[in-house]
Amino acid sequence: MRADLHVHSTASDGTDPPAEVMRRAARAGLDVVALTDHDTVAGHAEARAAAGPVALLPGMELSCRLDGRSLHMLAYLFDADQPELAAELARIRDDRVLRARAMVDKLAGLGVNVSWGQVAAIAGQAVVGRPHIARAMADSGAIASPREAFTRDWIADGGRAYVGRYALDPVRAIDLVRAAGGVTVLAHPRAGRDTWVTNEQITRLAAVGLAGLEVFHPDQSEAERARLIALAHDLALVPTGGSDDHGSLTGYRLGGETTSGEAYQDLLSRVPRPA
Ligand SMILES: [Zn+2]
Ligand SMILES: [Zn+2]
Repeated sequence: MRADLHVHSTASDGTDPPAEVMRRAARAGLDVVALTDHDTVAGHAEARAAAGPVALLPGMELSCRLDGRSLHMLAYLFDADQPELAAELARIRDDRVLRARAMVDKLAGLGVNVSWGQVAAIAGQAVVGRPHIARAMADSGAIASPREAFTRDWIADGGRAYVGRYALDPVRAIDLVRAAGGVTVLAHPRAGRDTWVTNEQITRLAAVGLAGLEVFHPDQSEAERARLIALAHDLALVPTGGSDDHGSLTGYRLGGETTSGEAYQDLLSRVPRPA
């Protein structure tokens, strides 16, 4: 069985609409694909309608912060209409807009000719994020390619035009998702970009109900995968995998990393039973 449990669409910062993601999942020979857009389930309906031979695991990737550092939490099979969870998601999305506007203002102050209207047009229906600003910057000629926006000169964490944002405490994220009937998996804890989650922090999250650890991720080295597998074993966490495909933004890697059938069944078995 082949399951890719970490994929983005145009509902957040991916470049392919949800239906196209499902078609690509079929071509990649996947049995299961999880749509895990950032802080939104807006792509689920379109993906479900286009599911075809591939089973859709509904999910999302929640923006969290722990001990001052950014951390991503994958969530699956929750009820997005559960009022407390829905309110948190709305708060995160509203803040993303305020934050993106603030970054555009800072860029203007640095002489970059990018308007909020351009960024909003690029984002379209998607949850606005830094990749959209990066594309607007490249369109304006300020940088040669969107990738160049993610440096200290521009909008990388701590960069000159960077603005921090509201993010959930991961313990609260775990609680909220569980209360909404879902399970959580810590995303790419050792991807090494902005996020690096320590063994001690993972142990703390495991104690409060984290279900899994994303081991198989393209940005995690073989050495880190081996350490994470051992840790998942020690803490009785499910070792999962996913491509973190963002369409053309990451080179169409759907199915490049997968979750084993055994781990997938284990994850499903941890979905809380209704009280
Ligand atoms: Zn992530
Ligand atoms: Zn992701």
